[in-house]
This record gives sequence, C-alpha cells and structure tokens, in this order.
Amino acid sequence: MHNAALASLGLNYVYVPFAVAPEDLGQAVRGLFALGVRGANVTIPHKEAVIPFLARLSPEAEAVGAVNTLVREGRGWVGHNTDGAGFLRALREEAGFDAAGARFLILGAGGAAKAVAFAVAGAGAAAVTVANRTPARAESLCRALSARLSCEVRAIPLDEEHIGRALSATDVLINTLPLGMHPQVEEMPPVPVELLQPPLLVCDLVYNPRPTKFLRVARANGCRTMDGLPMLVAQGALALEIWTGTKPPLNVMRRAAEEALHGGAEPGSGQVAGS
Ligand code: NAP
Repeated sequence: MHNAALASLGLNYVYVPFAVAPEDLGQAVRGLFALGVRGANVTIPHKEAVIPFLARLSPEAEAVGAVNTLVREGRGWVGHNTDGAGFLRALREEAGFDAAGARFLILGAGGAAKAVAFAVAGAGAAAVTVANRTPARAESLCRALSARLSCEVRAIPLDEEHIGRALSATDVLINTLPLGMHPQVEEMPPVPVELLQPPLLVCDLVYNPRPTKFLRVARANGCRTMDGLPMLVAQGALALEIWTGTKPPLNVMRRAAEEALHGGAEPGSGQVAGS
C-alpha cells in the first residue's frame, strides 16, 4: 500500500520489508540511519525494544511507551506512534463513530491496546476498561492512563464472567488480542457471544482474515463491526505523511491493501491471505 501511494504521488521513494532478529535490532536501526534511509516502520516484537536506539520520541509515543514509525531528524531517529491516531481515524471515518463521551472495553494490554487506549481516552472517552490475560499489564496501562488523562479507567480479568458484566456498560468493544488471526482462524477472545447485541460497536484489530470469526458472530447478532484494515491503512498513511510531508491517497492505499489480502476479492468473502 505504501508503494502504491508513492507511485500515485510520483515520489521517488521505495518501501521494503526487512526481517530483523531481536538481537540485531540496534545494528539494523543504526545501519538504516547510516545508509540515509528517510524513515521506517517497526512492528512486533520491536515496538518497545527500539526506543533506546532513538534520539527522541513524539508526545504520543512517549505516552504510549511504544513506537511504530521512525523518521530521521538531524543526527538521529525520532520515534512516533501512529497506531492510536490510525484507530481513531478509522473509527471516525469508517464506522462514523465519535469517541467523545463513549465507553470502551479493550481486550488486551499489549502495544496496540496501549496505543488505542491512549487515543480514545485522549479523544474524550467517558470510560476505558482493559481486560488482559496478565492482570499486571492491564493494571499498569490503567495507572498510566489515569496519570495523564481524566476518563474513568478499570482493569478486569480476561474471562467471560468479568467481560460479560463489563459489556452492559460498554458502547465499543475492541479486540486487540491476536486470537482469530491467520492461521488460528477458529480462535475467539473469551467473550460471552450472546451478550454481543446492538447498539454495541465491535472492532477487531486483526485484518487477516477479514472478518475474523469473532466479528462474524457479532455481525450475525446484529452488531455493527469494524475490522483491522481501516486502521492498518490509516496508521500507514499517517506514517507516510510523517516521512514525505505529503498527504497520501487513502483510497489508493486501501485498494492496494485489499488486493494484497484478498487478491482483489470483496472483503468478507472468506478468503484468507497466505502471508
Ligand atoms: P503484543 O504487544 O504482543 O500484545 C499482545 C496482547 O495479546 C497482550 O495483551 C497479550 O496478553 C495478549 N495475548 C496474546 N496471546 C494470547 C492468548 N493466547 N490468550 C490471551 N491473550 C493473549 O501485540 P500487539 O502489537 O498489541 O498486536 C496485537 C494484535 O493487534 C495483533 O494481531 C496485530 O496484528 C494487531 N494489530 C493491528 C494493527 C492494525 O493496524 N490493524 C496495528 C497494530 C496491531 P499478555 O499481556 O497476557 O501477554
């Protein structure tokens, strides 16, 4: 999707993937800088580990404690996090939903959950509840949120009983767990599915497959849903804008991403990309 956007803008850049082992991260990041590279994305498992190799962080990345975008500035890298803003843009433009005043239940407390939690809280959410397998991570995210923002926050265990109770006071449920992601497409987060009822908006950050089994069940119950693709495209567009100073064409990026994931088929057709 990045190369499609660059081509359509007529910009002389190329976006290439590199698989970097955790023990080589520092060398890779310094090497990219020495080579004159303009910018980079980092993903699982490097989003937090990359921070010691950066000159400074944007306020968003600092708050979240994770980085997905590097841009060169002077003698070093600046770390940004576009995941949260990407989710908010997707929520607004794809689902037509305004986070202000809404109550969110977030499944997971990893890098993506942190970015999303800070973004919705910063956008004026009334409440953010975090359910995680490792309770200490949910509690630490809630402490960090309440230290910076004024919305109501609560950490709960990741089980059907607690999630079921929390759902009665939830407007938007967001799955950030990798459960249901290719190739484990039959997995589901521990949510009592009979309680997924309108007007609940159900989001899944997973974009392969589209939709996940979890979203299919929510849809079958009549809930509105949003899969991970709009966020993927939006966070990528924000990164491209940081690197080039130009607003990329979202429709071109979206089409390229759908093409890569579905081979051109309509989303929801049940096709699963192989990579
Ligand atoms: P991460 O930092 O590794 O966090 C993973 C989270 O999932 C943690 O809360 C972890 O719980 C939990 N978890 C993992 N396996 C689990 C299991 N078997 N049972 C219960 N909980 C489990 O990963 P991340 O960067 O947040 O990414 C999470 C997902 O979001 C991935 O599927 C990724 O592809 C997706 N994502 C999508 C976008 C997008 O643009 N759409 C952007 C970023 C990420 P513990 O704390 O207990 O380990």
